Amino acid sequence: MTPPELQKVLIADDDAINRDVLCELLQPEYTVLLAKNGTQALERATRHVPDLILLDVMMPDVSGFDVLRRLRAAPQTEHISVIFISGLNRPEDEAAGLKMGASDYIAKPFNATVVLARVALHLQLVRQRRLLEHLAHVDGLTELANRRRFDDVYDLEWQRARRSGLPLSLALLDIDSFKQFNDLYGHPAGDRALRAVARVAGAHMRRPADLAARYGGEELVLLMPATDAAQALPMMEALREAVAGLRIAHAGSAAAPVITVSIGGATLDPSLSESSAELFEAADVQLYRAKQGGRNRVMWRTVPDHRGVD
Ligand code: GH3
Ligand code: MG
Ligand code: MG
Repeated sequence: MTPPELQKVLIADDDAINRDVLCELLQPEYTVLLAKNGTQALERATRHVPDLILLDVMMPDVSGFDVLRRLRAAPQTEHISVIFISGLNRPEDEAAGLKMGASDYIAKPFNATVVLARVALHLQLVRQRRLLEHLAHVDGLTELANRRRFDDVYDLEWQRARRSGLPLSLALLDIDSFKQFNDLYGHPAGDRALRAVARVAGAHMRRPADLAARYGGEELVLLMPATDAAQALPMMEALREAVAGLRIAHAGSAAAPVITVSIGGATLDPSLSESSAELFEAADVQLYRAKQGGRNRVMWRTVPDHRGVD
């Protein structure tokens, strides 16, 4: 989790004295950024994505209320917490600010200790929210994306592929004879092996849009947007070799004296595909073929209606 001193607070106020006072107050504890009007506030918020913005309401160019509205309208800035600091101190003003989605509203003249305490509170909430998001999306054992995260990303990438017409590749990876491994070496050793395989799989996902996730048990799923079969197949072959190259002894394996994986994959031609399930099912069939064919191998095909590439 981000330590407090690395949390970024943007102070946006057209009054230089207010900026200085707030800056001096916060600088010892946090990383402070400054903006002297609404336009600068939006520019810095977009560029630095601070954890919290202390936002003056009355500024000559763009008002604090408008800044907040625009922050909420852009995906990179919509989640940034905002505290209004304003000379408008009627209850209606405060209520309006909070209704717009500000986390808090502090009236000027402010008390330094109270501002510091509220900033600390809201930054703690930001850290807790991030931790919950992390826990909701990441598998605890392997630290890969979890099934829930995969389902969300897969849905988005499938739709994106349909729009762009670019191929989408998906692979299912399953550890060979893993039940035997647990039986022979124990469950904790199985967990370590699974983590090692997950690390290797994650390292083979090199593009920003690539995703490695734990689908369930000892099965991983690899999603490679804008990647055709000619690119995906060698990547998966390299991954299969890298897992064998870990040389984790497995005396009971049906495939090799070390831990190996079977990989089944498919590449989607998005202009011809009807549903996201089609790609997943095709990869699953290929995984089954890889197991049937003797394990420790990669099988691939393109969907729909093309001949398989093995
Ligand atoms: P195959 O080569 O056909 O895939 O054989 P297999 O033994 O790997 O397949 P099977 O599906 O019969 O068994 C999967 C095993 O994976 C059973 C289960 O105990 C083990 N497993 C699943 N998740 C975990 C885990 O998180 N930790 C450990 N240690 N084992 C797990
Ligand atoms: Mg298995
Ligand atoms: Mg399995």
